[in-house]
Amino acid sequence: MRMTTCSWLVAAVLGAAAAAVSSAPALEKINVLIIDGQNNHDWKGTTPVVKEMLLASGRFNVDVLTSPSNNDPKEAWEKFRPDFSKYGVVFGNYNGQPWPDDVKKAFEKYMSDGGGLVVFHAANNAFPEWEAWNKMIGLGWRDAKFGDRITVDESGKVVRTPKGEGPGAGHGPQWPYEVKVLDKAHPIMAGMPEKWTHAQDELYQAQRGPAQDMTILATAFAPKAKGGNDVNEPMVWTIPFGKGRVFVNILGHDGTSVAHPGCKALMCRGTEWAATGQVTLPVPAGIGAAAAAR
Ligand code: ZN
Repeated sequence: MRMTTCSWLVAAVLGAAAAAVSSAPALEKINVLIIDGQNNHDWKGTTPVVKEMLLASGRFNVDVLTSPSNNDPKEAWEKFRPDFSKYGVVFGNYNGQPWPDDVKKAFEKYMSDGGGLVVFHAANNAFPEWEAWNKMIGLGWRDAKFGDRITVDESGKVVRTPKGEGPGAGHGPQWPYEVKVLDKAHPIMAGMPEKWTHAQDELYQAQRGPAQDMTILATAFAPKAKGGNDVNEPMVWTIPFGKGRVFVNILGHDGTSVAHPGCKALMCRGTEWAATGQVTLPVPAGIGAAAAAR
């Protein structure tokens, strides 16, 4: 069959595109350090799920550092000295005893100098006594007196409730709620569906903290019928810390919910962004479809 000029053109463009793809230099893999070891959640179940999803993206090398347990003697903490400088991003799956002061200081320096942090679900419950950590996470699982609350109104405007007013942190029964993108232009969210139904999961509400410099990427509506306050709660956000970048995703109570397609995409894309400030990982197809098929 004779090709038309148009089809020759298409073939030429496709050929050039294929050549461009095959000659593009492979991106250097990002080193991720997952820290776990203490949590009121199933960290032994979720760490392997998170590790596998990061590895499967092809973008990361992943190490896991497990802290001493709270039954270990004090001396066990002397060996807990993460070398943060080896990592593009630290992935927090830890909610337990305070880290030693010099580890906290080393982590603050790592972040100030341009490090990356991912805060996964209950990791925002950790370290209420650590001022810099509270700055990094913006909002944590704290009582109402601890700090301000952030919600988002129907027009997408961020609303700040002062500390001491309204409820403190909590969640109702687990249910498959809708996650809605607020900042469609942010690199982590670009190309994601505008909204999707998440797995059955806890919907964290009324998180409290200094809440400075937060960029809210996605929200979820917490209705009174599900133990909420009929407001849009922030679910996913970013915060700068010095030259560093923090990505917070409070979805993902367990291995099933964190591996749900939308949450999985957020985790991989957010981890890349926290390390580099950019996102090259594609948005997988079917996030909305997976929700619709539920
Ligand atoms: Zn939980």
